[in-house]
Amino acid sequence: MKAINIEALTRDNVRRLTPYSSARDEFTGAEGVFLDANENPFPSKVNRYPDPQQRELKSKFADLRGVRKDQLIIGNGSDEILDLVFRAFCEPGKDFVVTIKPSYGMYKVLANMNDVKLSEVALDHNFDLDVDAILAASEGAKMIILCSPNNPTGNLLNKDSIKEILEKFNGLVLVDEAYIDFADKASMLDELTNYQNLMVSQTFSKAFGMAGIRVGVGIAHEEIINILNRIKPPYNVNGISQEMALNRLGRIEEVASEITQLKLERSRLINFLEHQDAVIRVYPTDANFVLFKVSDANKYYDRLVEKGVIVRNRTSAFGCENCLRLSVGTKEENNRFMEVFDTINI
Ligand code: PMP
Repeated sequence: MKAINIEALTRDNVRRLTPYSSARDEFTGAEGVFLDANENPFPSKVNRYPDPQQRELKSKFADLRGVRKDQLIIGNGSDEILDLVFRAFCEPGKDFVVTIKPSYGMYKVLANMNDVKLSEVALDHNFDLDVDAILAASEGAKMIILCSPNNPTGNLLNKDSIKEILEKFNGLVLVDEAYIDFADKASMLDELTNYQNLMVSQTFSKAFGMAGIRVGVGIAHEEIINILNRIKPPYNVNGISQEMALNRLGRIEEVASEITQLKLERSRLINFLEHQDAVIRVYPTDANFVLFKVSDANKYYDRLVEKGVIVRNRTSAFGCENCLRLSVGTKEENNRFMEVFDTINI
């Protein structure tokens, strides 16, 4: 395994930090008269604090992904995981992070929130990694964030390129795999045993169909997880969300069947778009959305909205001029999109 000095990467004050210890951290048994957490004793579904370490959820998710539960941190959405990584490793006003462009807009927001400079390196003409440019921009950086499959382009990034970056860069490499379950190729999780500097983030918001419960997962070497646990808010994932996520993991065949349906619908949308005169280019996708180029994205966007169909206008994103991003909906929703798109005459 490629090893890195995780302590040395950690922010000074976090290295010295003692995490908050909650009542539920100090006594973890299930039986007893619980008079330790200043809770309201009258029983309801939610009168008790939830498990701050989300043990059951971690154990089930670890089994699903073939990793160990001490390699997991659960967050209030994967956005929280990303924020924790910024806060644990990047010194505000001093450190800098590298990412790709175009990519998920939240990286910039999180960098700004944490007063960390973000350098964005352009993807190549196929929206894939320019390894040399990334490595050149990363000298002295704390972290590189890569999104694969990438949002808004939809494509998986080349795995060998990611491995070369992991090999040559001595900071953290965070691979955001929010859309990985829609891809036909393997997750970067397979590489966790080879690179101590790899962190992967995943989410219940997409393939699991649970954006409303705000559950995201960070997966990395346990030393990285231990650092993040020092700054994690004690009860960051509420009890109802933990229960619902666990429930979904218990019905994983339903998730698999929905993914299959969405991939079929995705093919149907791609086929439709490829046969439209108005569509200049349909980009390859491994996610639950399709990026496509038209002559005038603003006009198409407005016409679609007028007919009650909302897509995402990505024309202002780097390299995405006149591009619209279409999420894969149900069969009926996709039919409606196609029906309306067909009638637009620009
Ligand atoms: N990463 C990517 C690439 C995303 O597109 C999104 C949501 N659009 C997220 C992370 C955020 O996911 P979550 O709902 O888990 O916070």
